Amino acid sequence: MLQNPEALVNEIVSRVVANLSGAELKKPALCGNGIFSDMDQAVEACVISQKQYVKLTHQKMDKIINAIKQLAIDNAELLSKMAVEETGLGNYNDKVIKNRLVGEKTPGLEDLKSESFTGDNGLTLIELSPFGIIGSITPTTNPSETILCNSIGMLAAGNGVVFSPHPKAKEVSKKTVELINKAIVANGGPANLVTTVADPSMDQAKKLMEHPRVDMLVATGGPGVVKAVLASGKKAIGAGAGNPPVIVDDTADIVKAADDIVKGASFDNNIVCVAEKEVIALKSICDYLIFQMQASGAHLITTDSDLKKLENLVLEGEKKYPHKDFIGKDAKTILQKAGIDHKPTTKLIIVETKKCHPFVQREMMMPVLPIVRADNINEAIEMAIELEHGYRHTAVMHSKNIDNLSAFAKAIQTTIFVKNGPAYAGLGVGGEGYTTFTIAGPTGEGLTAARHFTRKRRCVLVEGFNIR
Ligand code: NAD
Repeated sequence: MLQNPEALVNEIVSRVVANLSGAELKKPALCGNGIFSDMDQAVEACVISQKQYVKLTHQKMDKIINAIKQLAIDNAELLSKMAVEETGLGNYNDKVIKNRLVGEKTPGLEDLKSESFTGDNGLTLIELSPFGIIGSITPTTNPSETILCNSIGMLAAGNGVVFSPHPKAKEVSKKTVELINKAIVANGGPANLVTTVADPSMDQAKKLMEHPRVDMLVATGGPGVVKAVLASGKKAIGAGAGNPPVIVDDTADIVKAADDIVKGASFDNNIVCVAEKEVIALKSICDYLIFQMQASGAHLITTDSDLKKLENLVLEGEKKYPHKDFIGKDAKTILQKAGIDHKPTTKLIIVETKKCHPFVQREMMMPVLPIVRADNINEAIEMAIELEHGYRHTAVMHSKNIDNLSAFAKAIQTTIFVKNGPAYAGLGVGGEGYTTFTIAGPTGEGLTAARHFTRKRRCVLVEGFNIR
């Protein structure tokens, strides 16, 4: 059963293209916005398109990649507005920063470096080739950012991509896929190189994972989806959850540390996976840190009754998971709903608590930041490792003591370790380095880029081209 007229047009296009002879297939499909009513069609159209795409010169591919980067910048406002309206998560201004960041700092073809070995026996070349078709499962928290960023890296590597977006972000995700297809076709590439389905669901995601024409899977989301792609039997990259701890020691610039933490933990209402999720402060500086965090826009919960109001609102069920209605909401809305007086400038809610509290243990993904005291640096590091739950995602430290910084970085082994800045510096916002919205801790690729979506191939020329 077809869902909408766009899906109907796409189905006709994919069927016509599928029935063309080999000679006719050399011509890329000229229309199609990448949206199909069913996952099988989305995969099949992508397979046809990728066969055309890999024949393009690198110069032409580069032009396409640059056009996708530009569209991320040009449409940052539109996509951010759509994401906030549809998902109810995060805030518009920070999403604009994130979408623009993708356009400005996601690596393209320049990430793909060949290697060579020369010697008495000739020349051996290692080249990075496309995997083929990648199935990419994307989250609610960075819907357009992940689709844009993954498309740039995956297409730069010569692949086609079929997206399975989160059902709660389907409109913004489809819009992003449409814009990408438009940019590809306008720059001489084939239509439907990036596809998705009109109505994403778990069933469609399962179909994508099991589809025989899908060569590689990339999951960006929580532990469930990472586990699912790793169990698929296909080559898989898993970019999973985090619970980033922040340590502040007694050598830190406390005023700056407080301000950085408030900025980082309130960015996009704390839904970003790298965002500060709990603070561990040495007891000697903890009161001053809390004082300075308030000066930077944090509201401190000071009474048991306010704490109860907050807990009753934002935690649900016996196991005290974060309440879905408050994930990604802003601090003022949460305080208002909880009936807690606050300043109109409030950006973040802070509360001092014990390490066993659900605010500390859970990835809350809302601007509620718990603070736990530690007696000394060793206790702080031990606690941070425990609270990160072995995700190896992100950790932050504010300190001027090189020994402390090194000890924590070595012990926690996270993919991202930020020193003396907000956690988002690890994504390239105010920090050096390229960006990605697929941070693969569980499978070890780290901050993914084009080279991670390739197969390494060796080509050996015996007794030739050794020109020394
Ligand atoms: P989610 O896990 O609920 O959903 C992510 C995607 O996976 C969605 O498309 C969803 O439909 C799909 N999905 C979930 N379970 C699945 C299963 N068993 N089989 C197939 N598909 C499945 O996550 P979310 O709420 O959209 O995003 C927030 C989570 O993602 C947080 O835990 C956050 O830390 C994490 N995240 C990680 C990164 C990273 O780069 N490491 C980036 C963004 C978000």
